[in-house]
Amino acid sequence: MKKMVDIKSLSNRRSNMVETQIKRRGIDNERVLQTFRNVPRHKFVTEEYQADAYSDHPLPIGNGQTISQPYIVALMTSELQLTGDEKVLEIGTGSGYQTAILAHLAKEVHSVELIPQLSNLAKRNLLGLEINNIFLHIGDGCMGWPDAAPYERILITAAAPEIPEKLIGQLQINGRIVSPVGGRWRQMLEVWIKEKNHIRKNQILPVVFVPLRGANGWQD
Ligand code: SAH
Repeated sequence: MKKMVDIKSLSNRRSNMVETQIKRRGIDNERVLQTFRNVPRHKFVTEEYQADAYSDHPLPIGNGQTISQPYIVALMTSELQLTGDEKVLEIGTGSGYQTAILAHLAKEVHSVELIPQLSNLAKRNLLGLEINNIFLHIGDGCMGWPDAAPYERILITAAAPEIPEKLIGQLQINGRIVSPVGGRWRQMLEVWIKEKNHIRKNQILPVVFVPLRGANGWQD
C-alpha cells in the first residue's frame, strides 16, 4: 500500500524546519527564509523519503547522490547574497531543490548536471511549480556553461578539489562563487569573490559533500 503523507503536516514540518534548523542557526535574511517556507522540499525526494523531507540531514536521490541538508542549502544560498538581479550558474542540479530556491531569489538560473537521469529527475520535480527562469543543462560542470556566461554568481553543490579555472573565467568581476573545497571526504565551504586583480576567499564552515566528477573533479 502507498504511504500517504498529509499535506498539512508537511507544511507544518516545513515551517518548523525554517524556524529550528535555519533561523535558529543564524540565517536571518527574510527573503531567504521566505523562499525556504515556500519551496515544497518533499517534491524533490522520492515517495519513500517524503515523510523525512523536512528532517535535519541529507537524503538519497538515486545514482549515489544526495539532496543536501536543508541548513547547508540555506547557508550556501545566503552566502550567495542574491538581490534578484543575478544570472546564476549552478553545478550539480541533483534533485533540483537548490535550483528551485535559487530561481526564487535570482533573475535566471543555469544548472549543469553530469548524470542525465538526475537532470531528468530535476525536470520532473520542477514541473508544476510555476518557475520559468531555470535552464537545465547536461554536461561536465567543470567546463561551466559558456553559452550564457558571464554569471554574477556560481554555486557548486559537489566537493571540488579546487575551483575549476573555467568557472572563474565565466564569473563576472565582483561576482562570487560558493563551493565546498578540499578533500574527498571533508571540505571547507568557501566563498570566492572575484576582484579586478585577485580573488578574495572566505572560509565559512567544514562540510561533507558528494564528490565533484569531471575534468577537475575526483576520478576514483
Ligand atoms: N544541489 C543538489 C545536490 C546534488 S548532489 C540538490 O539540491 O539536490 C551533487 C550533484 O553534483 C550530483 O547530482 C552529481 O551528479 C553532480 N555532479 C558531480 N560532478 C559534476 C560535474 N562535474 N558536473 C555537473 N554535475 C556534477
